[in-house]
Amino acid sequence: MSAVNIVLQPRPAGGLGVDPSVDREIQAIVAGASTAETCNTDLADGPWNFDARPGYGPGSSMGDIIPTGSPRQGELPLAYREASDDELDARIIAAKKTLGDRVVVLGHFYQREEVVRHADYVGDSFQLANAAKAHPEAEAIVFCGVHFMAETADLLSQPEQAVILPNLAAGCSMADMADIDQVEECWEQLAEIYGDMDAVDQDGLVPVIPVTYMNSSAAIKGFVGRHGGIVCTSSNAQTVLEWAFERGRRVLFFPDQHLGRNTAKAMGVTLEQMPMWNPRKPLGGASADELEDARVILWHGFCSVHRRFTVEQIDKARAEHPGVRVIVHPECPMAVVDAADESGSTDYIRRAIEGATEPTTFAIGTEVNLVQRLAAANPQHEIFCLDPVVCPCSTMYRIHPGYLAWVLEGLVNGEVLNRITVPADVADPARIALERMLAAKPPAAPVPS
Ligand code: SF4
Repeated sequence: MSAVNIVLQPRPAGGLGVDPSVDREIQAIVAGASTAETCNTDLADGPWNFDARPGYGPGSSMGDIIPTGSPRQGELPLAYREASDDELDARIIAAKKTLGDRVVVLGHFYQREEVVRHADYVGDSFQLANAAKAHPEAEAIVFCGVHFMAETADLLSQPEQAVILPNLAAGCSMADMADIDQVEECWEQLAEIYGDMDAVDQDGLVPVIPVTYMNSSAAIKGFVGRHGGIVCTSSNAQTVLEWAFERGRRVLFFPDQHLGRNTAKAMGVTLEQMPMWNPRKPLGGASADELEDARVILWHGFCSVHRRFTVEQIDKARAEHPGVRVIVHPECPMAVVDAADESGSTDYIRRAIEGATEPTTFAIGTEVNLVQRLAAANPQHEIFCLDPVVCPCSTMYRIHPGYLAWVLEGLVNGEVLNRITVPADVADPARIALERMLAAKPPAAPVPS
């Protein structure tokens, strides 16, 4: 296997002088130059080494089962696999200069530093989709994130604009946990319990409103749009649930059980009122009585990045760093959210750190690339990831400067590579579900880089 060519730099333990690059950290671990630990030393290799293999590849989702038929990426040309970091940087900069306003490059918060530095905007998935929408003059939008994010950008951009995902293997294991066939089947089974799903009761409520997290396929967003439902993000989930409870007696929430549970619990819904729906079991594994009494039916999905965080890690951080401020993402399990000082979206975490006026120690429970970049950008604070094992998102990792250079140079040569297109019959209802969310609560602005 060919390794990613990265210059090793020692990394201080948080605070001043933190190296923002997780790639360099992993290279240092593999070379024995760092005492830190990684969940998989294969992360030191180029992601192209895993494109032809089944599975999510090394990183947090490596133990998850990938659906049959998930997109695979064809072989990246050798010139990009063998190029040095400096060469790739130079090629990306040159291609972007040639393309000018014809292209917008979007970088998710969880992308590696070596990609984010080339992004025109950095943000969460919905902020970035809106950044794409704000550039109707661009012929192409290169989305350095995962598949569902590129789909959302396609939904919100102009029909003639090409949305490009640099590596087609960059899916999302959580989004893959709810496929459209399973959701349709669930809906049919719920209709057997609740009767006519469009009928309103004496309070003007339908039996169930489907709510999908932004981290889901366009097909699921389309399903939600067709059935009177709505999309949510981690920053507006409570507003969206309030919207849904004004219209329905219950909510079917997918794919992330943790975001659904944490949000509904904060709104006063009891755990008994939140049965789980496991798509591999009849009636999702719940009883008819549990479903009758349900307020929120939680899909059995989760994010393997955020599932790594534990209460023990928080206890350790508090013992070793008295006064530490612990902030975790609401995709973390309930016990972790309860043990933390605060929970919030990636944008919430960023703003909390940037808004702290006194030097503070932060222990953060979210993807390590964002944590490490925040630590480097805010040297007045000590910031560290709660998880001591360096284990980035397996699929965000699949985007590498080599793929970014490849798709940008393709555009320079008049070739649109890896275009993501949502078919019209899915796109129309999916847009309705997104528009309902926008009407409920507009998103915060993305961060121009
Ligand atoms: S961090 Fe979790 S939800 Fe986000 S892309 Fe990775 S697996 Fe999916």
